[in-house]
Amino acid sequence: MDAQREWFEKDYYLTLGVAADATAKEITKAYRKLARQHHPDQNPGDDAAEERFKEISAAYDVLGDEAKRKEYDEVRRLGPMAGGIGGGGPGGFSFNVGDMQGGDIGDLLGQMFRGQRGRGGHQSSGVGPQRGADVTAQLNLDFADAARGLTTTLFLTSDARCSTCSGSGAKPGTHPIVCGVCGGRGVIDDNQGLFSFSSPCRNCQGSGSVIKDPCPTCRGSGVERRPREVKARIPAGVSDGQTIRLAGRGSPGRNGGPAGDLLVEISVAPHDRFGRSGRNLTVTVPVTFPELALGGDIHVPTLEGPTVKLRLRPGTPSGSRHRVKGKGITTTSKREGTKSGDLIVTVDVEVPTTLTEAQRTAIEQLAAATTVGPRTTS
Ligand SMILES: [Zn+2]
Ligand SMILES: [Zn+2]
Repeated sequence: MDAQREWFEKDYYLTLGVAADATAKEITKAYRKLARQHHPDQNPGDDAAEERFKEISAAYDVLGDEAKRKEYDEVRRLGPMAGGIGGGGPGGFSFNVGDMQGGDIGDLLGQMFRGQRGRGGHQSSGVGPQRGADVTAQLNLDFADAARGLTTTLFLTSDARCSTCSGSGAKPGTHPIVCGVCGGRGVIDDNQGLFSFSSPCRNCQGSGSVIKDPCPTCRGSGVERRPREVKARIPAGVSDGQTIRLAGRGSPGRNGGPAGDLLVEISVAPHDRFGRSGRNLTVTVPVTFPELALGGDIHVPTLEGPTVKLRLRPGTPSGSRHRVKGKGITTTSKREGTKSGDLIVTVDVEVPTTLTEAQRTAIEQLAAATTVGPRTTS
């Protein structure tokens, strides 16, 4: 049945035997008394009791939730469709009594609370501490920054601790008060009668405290959506496409739950000279044929600072690769400690496109003196 029509047609206050202006405490008390009385385990084979139990539970599902009760009152006052209840509305709590055989009422309440969780939209429908959401941010780095790491400021718009009430949810100058129903424990034990169970407190949604004057900015949630800046330390050696998880820097938790994480998605711009392979940096250095043939020192650029000398043996092949120790990326992690990569240098003969007269003569002499043997692979 359409939830609003159902609400309009059913008097849940009558079902629970309470006045329309009953307090949350009175409603809970009435519900618990009736639930015990009509519980199917108490009345085996009694279909009428079972039906009554369903009605009681459905009534409490609405009246026991402050937000839903407000919507319900609105629908009852103005008629169905007037309450503006969207798709996230209650939809009529239902359960299968058959599933309850052998279970206890604690299970049932557990089901009810689980049913409410994750419905989203309304803050007060969550019960107990909830972890804040993870937040994703993009960060574009240039090659050198990614290699050496940096501390940067990320600008993002996300849920953040409310700046008006510092996250308490209470109007400035007021404080949340200890929940009178559960005494601040967030759960209710009930050892009366046949059943003994403990369930999240409905009055405070399991948080243990109640806000009398909600903060006008966040309406009591303690969370507001706003631009915020997060200082982030990006470790050395991050690579393109990597995601860095900054624990506890995401959306704040609710009802005392922990904050979510901030996931920073890294993209690294390519360098016009250097490449990367893990911790190693790669670079290609143009050399002359005599440098390779005769050997000697060449100067190799590094990503950080001055060039370094690289000694080539006489007869170094073009395209060969040479390692300069410790001139790669230095990373530090708890797991691996500090480690440095190397600079991998590829030497590549550069063939001149124009020649001076002296060069041409010298090369011609070289050519005349060079005998190329049979081209075999050895
Ligand atoms: Zn606030
Ligand atoms: Zn409570």
